[in-house]
Amino acid sequence: MTVRRTSCNLCEAICGVLVTVEDGRVTDIRGDESDPLSRGHICPKAVALRDLQEDPDRLTTPVRRTPGGWEPIGWAAAYELVVGKLTAIQQEHGQNAVGVYLGNPNVHSLGALTHMPTMVRQLRTRNRFSATSIDQLPQMLASYLLYGHQLMVAVPDIDRTSYLLVLGANPLASNGSMMTAPGFGKRLKELRKRGGKVVVVDPRRTETAAVSDEHHFVRPGTDAAFLLALIHEVISQGFANPAEYVDGLAEVEAAVEKWTPERAAAITGIPADVIERVAREFGSADRAACYGRVGVSTQQFGAICQWAIQVLNIITGNLDRPGGTMFPRPAVNTLLGLGRGHVGAWKSRVRGLPEFGGELPVSTMAEEILTPGDGQIRAMVTIAGNPVLSTPDGRRLDKALESLDFMVSIDPYINETTRHADVILPPAPPLEREHYDIVFHQLAVRNTARWNDAALPKPASARHDWEIFRDLGLALVRRTPWSRRRAEVTARLRLSPRWIVDAGLRIGPYRLSVGKLRRSPGGIDLGPLQPALPGALHKKSKRIDLAQKMILDDLPRLDALTALDADELLLIGRRHLRNNNSWMHNSARLVKGRPRHHLLMHPDDLITRDLADGQLVTVTSAAGSVEVEVAASNDIMPGVVSLPHGFGHNRSGSRLSVANQVQGPSANDITDAGLIDPTAGTAAVNGVPVKVTACTAPSSPG
Ligand code: SF4
Repeated sequence: MTVRRTSCNLCEAICGVLVTVEDGRVTDIRGDESDPLSRGHICPKAVALRDLQEDPDRLTTPVRRTPGGWEPIGWAAAYELVVGKLTAIQQEHGQNAVGVYLGNPNVHSLGALTHMPTMVRQLRTRNRFSATSIDQLPQMLASYLLYGHQLMVAVPDIDRTSYLLVLGANPLASNGSMMTAPGFGKRLKELRKRGGKVVVVDPRRTETAAVSDEHHFVRPGTDAAFLLALIHEVISQGFANPAEYVDGLAEVEAAVEKWTPERAAAITGIPADVIERVAREFGSADRAACYGRVGVSTQQFGAICQWAIQVLNIITGNLDRPGGTMFPRPAVNTLLGLGRGHVGAWKSRVRGLPEFGGELPVSTMAEEILTPGDGQIRAMVTIAGNPVLSTPDGRRLDKALESLDFMVSIDPYINETTRHADVILPPAPPLEREHYDIVFHQLAVRNTARWNDAALPKPASARHDWEIFRDLGLALVRRTPWSRRRAEVTARLRLSPRWIVDAGLRIGPYRLSVGKLRRSPGGIDLGPLQPALPGALHKKSKRIDLAQKMILDDLPRLDALTALDADELLLIGRRHLRNNNSWMHNSARLVKGRPRHHLLMHPDDLITRDLADGQLVTVTSAAGSVEVEVAASNDIMPGVVSLPHGFGHNRSGSRLSVANQVQGPSANDITDAGLIDPTAGTAAVNGVPVKVTACTAPSSPG
């Protein structure tokens, strides 16, 4: 029996874990007390790492579709088939005829981060999409505009703050997102124990709200009005005192002039006196942080919301001060390896929506496949993603993928998306990988560093994800004539992730190395977050300009927000600790227990519609309809219903024997690809207008 130290990389919390291995099999997984960031915390998903390892549905060899079904194929033959097909399609229809979709798990894999971007660049297509535009894009846009780099994210200094204002986030379930804070529940308790206050603003009384000091319902999609009114009040009550290197306060003051608490109250449902008081408390707190996540990003005013959150932190002097929002200083400087970002360098072909950081909004993917014309996507490469379940109007995308000339998926499962592939290339599972977290140390509430050797050996016949990207990338770059660029790409692809991390550590601020980290397998504590501005800004001027034209020009769109409407029903999502977006439902231990797919609805809304708790209802939006059991809940705001995404399994051809038994429809069968934040291009999956009626004739799954 051996105990191996590694980390769980299923979510952003990057918890250290101890994996017990007996006779080559995992027999126990528990939290690693010696990890200075996670301090022994794990959630139920960590134990399911073992299920991923042993899942009989997980592919271990490449497969290709044949008239008789899926057939194993060797790695070399698979690469040849994939590169041959993609090349032929691009030669006939142009570079953009190949589209790429990158799923969320890519950002949790070292090998994907070190090798996938170089491989994807060899496809030379502008039709690149990812989960970013249904997630954190507005936060990255705000960082790009204000601080000069898309990943220069100011993280709440949760361990020292005395006032935390949370909007549209449920860190008790997520353990922090765009804020790596493992054991968030414990950190929250510590915050309150030292006399701090936590205020949650959310259309649902979430698990986080339940253990906070205050919770206020907010009408979905109107958080921007609340935030602008807060800024209005902070300025008018005399709490605006930004740092010397901040410009644009006068323009912001003029922009929020009409956003009085009374006006915001009529739109948001949050009383004016609460807005005034929260502004006063936030402005007068010695250390305050405002934090907003998915609920304020994936809605029609996501860019305004994330900008406003930053402005609130900046003008109250809370940016870059202990207990406010601060910039981590990780051992590998991720910002150096990732471009600063850009926005609107090109637009989507059909709807003319802007790219951000080289990716088009995922809401446009289906139409780019289905709409004929120059640049139409005819082949797709999907990498660690299941967009049929995780992006808006999934049913339309399902049909679009069916119409492709060719599709290759780099994925361990035949799921609702990859069932449309012609070839699937499965990477080795997480416990067989080495890991250093390039991304989430950059977003962590404390500076730490940890290198993990693989907990289990990889079979010789298997391939790591980075090896797949390397081999595909090398085959793709060989299509081009010899050049210096080709030589550089070839050399880069041949480096191992370990070599790249080691180089990054050596030139990083603490002058570490993989060797040094391996001698401290639980990780190294590099201390609390430290002030870094203005020197760390990725702007030549070393100044922050609050008056961002792109945002100020967008503010008039808020004038369309109407007063609360008693008849409306707006759909929002929700997160559960045992769910992980659209995957991990194939782990029996994670899906057991009470079903979690129900539509939550306030009892008053049930009565108004003559519906009963537990009844099967039809939820209809502009995009389609689903049937689901409704559950009465006082934890949901009247006029709001909540359905979690990531369900909707049991589709013909998918090979997920446990997930296919899990009940519940896909929320993205009723989210609307037409509903977006036009400024950021983010999908507005929160605040979708729906109708809920009694279901008379249930339909069968497709
Ligand atoms: S919170 Fe859970 S899923 Fe996330 S890293 Fe920690 S153990 Fe893994």
